[in-house]
Amino acid sequence: MKSICLSLVLFFSLLISSLCFAQVPILNTYDSPQPKVVSPGLTTADNGVTVPSDAVILFDGKDLSEWSSKNGEPKWAVHDGMFTVTKGTGDIATKKEFGDFQLHIEFMHPADITGEGQMRGNSGIFLQGLYEIQVLETYNNENKTYVNGQAGSIYRQHPPLVNPLQKPGGWNAYDIIFTAPTFNADNTYRTNPRVTILMNGILIQNNAIIYGCTSDEKIYNQLKGGIRLQDHGCVVNYRNIWVREL
Ligand code: MG
Repeated sequence: MKSICLSLVLFFSLLISSLCFAQVPILNTYDSPQPKVVSPGLTTADNGVTVPSDAVILFDGKDLSEWSSKNGEPKWAVHDGMFTVTKGTGDIATKKEFGDFQLHIEFMHPADITGEGQMRGNSGIFLQGLYEIQVLETYNNENKTYVNGQAGSIYRQHPPLVNPLQKPGGWNAYDIIFTAPTFNADNTYRTNPRVTILMNGILIQNNAIIYGCTSDEKIYNQLKGGIRLQDHGCVVNYRNIWVREL
């Protein structure tokens, strides 16, 4: 009887540990099915989207006064109501920090874009400076890369549910609803960060669990952080950026 009990304990221990292990995200999954391509909705300044009256405007087409860089003043180029990643000058981040928020941000890859894989229009939006929502040129799934590294993925954690990206030369909008994590006394997550994302009005992440910081998946006990945009050595344009604290 004792050995049967021990066997049952062992069985359920293995079952529970395997279920926990199953929650660990799979990295670099080239083999997963590509998300279905769907036509985009109309949610950019081109279609008359307006800024809510209670929003904090982070870029209104004029200057980068709301942004800073590790290397001093941001060196990204402001022109024609947008700004463009200036390769090699480093990431830029908002001076203001946010906990829970709704973020609207528009990005565009140039029509004459070159490069492939992760070097085709790569940038990213790091929520609280820690969790990357990928920006990449993957229109119509034609640029082959690992599925959880393409546009709309929570980088290396969750691929997008579908792919509604515009072709190069067209503006895209991300509308991102972020719930900040809470922490236990030992700096582990009490509740993980979570994110819901619409790309061009189409749901691509549905209250997805974020497992930890992008790349190292470490947990940093941080309640607020800036929004950081990535210089990945590719030309990407941004405009019409605002945030609503929740
Ligand atoms: Mg990136």
